[in-house]
Amino acid sequence: AAHSTPSEATKPAAPVVHDTPAANEPPTSFKYVLIGGGTASYSAMLGIRELDPTGEILIITAEPYAPYQRPPLSKELWFKGANAESLEFTNWQGEQTSLMYQPASAYESPAADLVPTGEGTKLLTNARAVALDVDAQTITLESGTVVKYDKVLLATGGTPRKLAVQKGLPEVAQRRVVTYRTVDDFKKLTQVVSGDEGKTKKVAVIGGGFLGSELSVALAQKDGVDVTQVFPEEGNMALVFPRYLTKWTTNQITSEGVTVLPKSTVTSLAYDDEADKILVQVNNGDSPLAVDHVVVAVGIEPNVTLAKNAGLEIDPVRGGIAVNAELEARHNVFAAGDNVSFHDVVLGRRRVEHYDNAVLQGRWAGRSMAGKPKAFTHQSMFWSDLGPKIGYEAMGVLDSSLVTVGVWGHQQTDASSVPAAAADGAKTDAPLGKPPGSEEFRKGVVFYVRDDKIVGVLMFNVHGKVDVARRILLEGRKPAEANELAAKFDIFA
Ligand code: FAD
Ligand code: NAD
Repeated sequence: AAHSTPSEATKPAAPVVHDTPAANEPPTSFKYVLIGGGTASYSAMLGIRELDPTGEILIITAEPYAPYQRPPLSKELWFKGANAESLEFTNWQGEQTSLMYQPASAYESPAADLVPTGEGTKLLTNARAVALDVDAQTITLESGTVVKYDKVLLATGGTPRKLAVQKGLPEVAQRRVVTYRTVDDFKKLTQVVSGDEGKTKKVAVIGGGFLGSELSVALAQKDGVDVTQVFPEEGNMALVFPRYLTKWTTNQITSEGVTVLPKSTVTSLAYDDEADKILVQVNNGDSPLAVDHVVVAVGIEPNVTLAKNAGLEIDPVRGGIAVNAELEARHNVFAAGDNVSFHDVVLGRRRVEHYDNAVLQGRWAGRSMAGKPKAFTHQSMFWSDLGPKIGYEAMGVLDSSLVTVGVWGHQQTDASSVPAAAADGAKTDAPLGKPPGSEEFRKGVVFYVRDDKIVGVLMFNVHGKVDVARRILLEGRKPAEANELAAKFDIFA
């Protein structure tokens, strides 16, 4: 399963505008402060540097690492060629690469007491911003240090949700019921599943979405790891895929060695100190699963506390920081990535929890901060890989409660022999163009429909066609055109 490189790669472009540093007087504020050590923050740094090669940037991250990308944490880092210590790995394209965008040594350390110097890119790790004052233009750190900014970016991402039932567990068991989002989470889980030679480790993964499904498949292919995935929906990715595809995907994940327990809610967690196991009680009437470790993957809460306490508007529906088209929440305060509610010119107000969105919004916000504000109009893509057999790319709104029209290719047919697309409007779970009598969804395109317009495109085992999907959304194409449009994705080859 290989995916194409996300659009607008993270490489810096040639700088075009040269700023003159302030004359004589030492600066009292940082020209740019970026809060966050993830993709949106790093991309904003690149966006700023396109326009302002020297202006001082201070990146503040709560993590002990230089900014890094998260997607390989549930994919390539678990597969052959990965080094859990150096965080280097072989990507699906076969290239050797690193989780870190740049080594920490590529950044400068801030001056003592965080005194601004007027130039350079400074990285402050293990530092949490705890307050934002948008009038005084200051950030207060957990250490008590106050940093003044000219422009600030809130790129604080999200925090994984926990289960209510994990609260009562004793400390010894708490350590073994974990959420999963960071390098440290990866390192801990690696230790858990690679200890005790010859002894099988039992892991329960709670959640049937992107993270739960990817991580279950990645863990199951490791020797000596036994994975049970538990979630309330009918099958894997049921909130995203149409029902037939969820069913097929669940079967595939099962054949990768994962024991999948759909329609299952965890009603309690307990610790058996004699057996030294976590007992996961599920509402299916069976006796509890006894496991060594539990990974909770039940979604995230966007990190908006700084913004909220500063009096900025939070979208009450989507939970993100409300920004205008230029990704500005208030004068000189920008936001980008998972924690942002933005106006999508084609699809309406949205909050998106995917990588390419963080890359693009970060880049856009960075350029805006450096003085070239421009409406964010780019339609981002996303992708997922569920082991070697399933890989997909997607664009727009993928919500399984919408009407979907799926067109599936197979070796013996061409576009002209595919049945006509479903009648408009009616909710259909039936895929079109599926090989008769086969449950094989080898390659296909699913269109998601709202108000008789295609608002989402899922490209299943189809790669490198995101531009085609983007055009379909921009042009507001109709579901009745599904077959004609599907032919553009080469699914019949
Ligand atoms: P984050 O990456 O969450 O970064 C936020 C940063 O802010 C963190 O470093 C955090 O410590 C820091 N921070 C938070 N609060 C503060 C504070 N007060 N002070 C200082 N620092 C703070 N998307 C895809 O499209 N495809 C994939 O295959 C894919 N795989 C993924 C796999 C995993 C395991 C995970 C967890 C996510 C995956 N995603 C994927 C989603 C993608 O990684 C996110 O959308 C992206 O990381 C969002 O970037 P961000 O910069 O907005 O937030
Ligand atoms: P998600 O929103 O994709 O899935 C949440 C899942 O939680 C649901 O599918 C449901 O099964 C489950 N759930 C919710 N409440 C539950 C409960 N009480 N008990 C059991 N299950 C419950 O979130 P995630 O899978 O946790 O992923 C975390 C974040 O990382 C998300 O922002 C996601 O988009 C991102 N991520 C993205 C990718 C990708 O784009 N390929 C991959 C991994 C992670």
